[in-house]
Amino acid sequence: MTCLECKKELSYLDHKASMETYGVELCSKHTRRLDKLIKVNNTPLGAIRLYYALKEIGVYPMLEWWDGKKSVDIAISRVKLNIEIETEYQMLTHEQAMNNLEETMHSFKNGFTTIRIPHVVIKHYLHETVQSIIGIIEGLKVNIKVI
Ligand SMILES: [Zn+2]
Repeated sequence: MTCLECKKELSYLDHKASMETYGVELCSKHTRRLDKLIKVNNTPLGAIRLYYALKEIGVYPMLEWWDGKKSVDIAISRVKLNIEIETEYQMLTHEQAMNNLEETMHSFKNGFTTIRIPHVVIKHYLHETVQSIIGIIEGLKVNIKVI
């Protein structure tokens, strides 16, 4: 059991605490750093799980990346992909839906692709979600080369 960030050996308690809170293995220092990040950005738990799942397979994601206007849950800058985790999609009002669409439009204009993933998908199909994102990254790479 080692910390996913710094590879430090984890004590039983550190391991238990981070697994119970985030479902990933982190040392106390990196758990605290994540606590702070989440407090500031209101990061959904799904974003944390997905971030570490992507990191594990060698994608270089960024958590809570500031795009100049807003914080993006996860960004993969190499292919200009933004990933937003939807936590309250059942209660999405038409204003929120319109805002989302406009945000997506602005990102597209800047060369970024935004995808929105419901948190339940990450909860139940993390592996499949990661596979789909890999596919999207490959597709984006091909398109970047064409341009
Ligand atoms: Zn650590």
